[in-house]
Amino acid sequence: MQVRFNCPTDGCVALIEMEPLEACAQDPQTGPGPGDGIECPRCHVRHPLHLSQAILREHRVDACPLCRCREFFVRKDFPQRIGLVVVAAAAIVSVATFKSNIWLSWGVLAAAVVVDLALYVLVGTVTVCYACRAEYRHVAANPEHEGFDLARSEKY
Ligand SMILES: [Zn+2]
Ligand SMILES: [Zn+2]
Repeated sequence: MQVRFNCPTDGCVALIEMEPLEACAQDPQTGPGPGDGIECPRCHVRHPLHLSQAILREHRVDACPLCRCREFFVRKDFPQRIGLVVVAAAAIVSVATFKSNIWLSWGVLAAAVVVDLALYVLVGTVTVCYACRAEYRHVAANPEHEGFDLARSEKY
């Protein structure tokens, strides 16, 4: 399981990425306790992690270890930058070849669509906490989690 979140300290927006289970596994004697946490590399504030039994045993996120929120949504882990670069590059080539070879021009655009679609199908999913927007990757699927819901999101 990998977690990625923005440091919740006011004024600090460091992006923190960690493997909380591996960090805890280093000390199997004591296990994860309230004193365990993650230190922000930028502001050096320690953020406690509350790892539930479901996370520890099944790698299934049921409560956010950072804010204890119990509502999550699941979305495709689509690399939006790569998707945009593919489309932008195809558009440039397409415009450049439009006059000389219209078939090549259309072909390039069609190829870009296929590449983006393939990416969309191949990428995994990411579970996101509604409250703090922490992202959880490589976790067991939780059937309670659904796609993004705007009404739920507005509660936070
Ligand atoms: Zn910080
Ligand atoms: Zn959270």
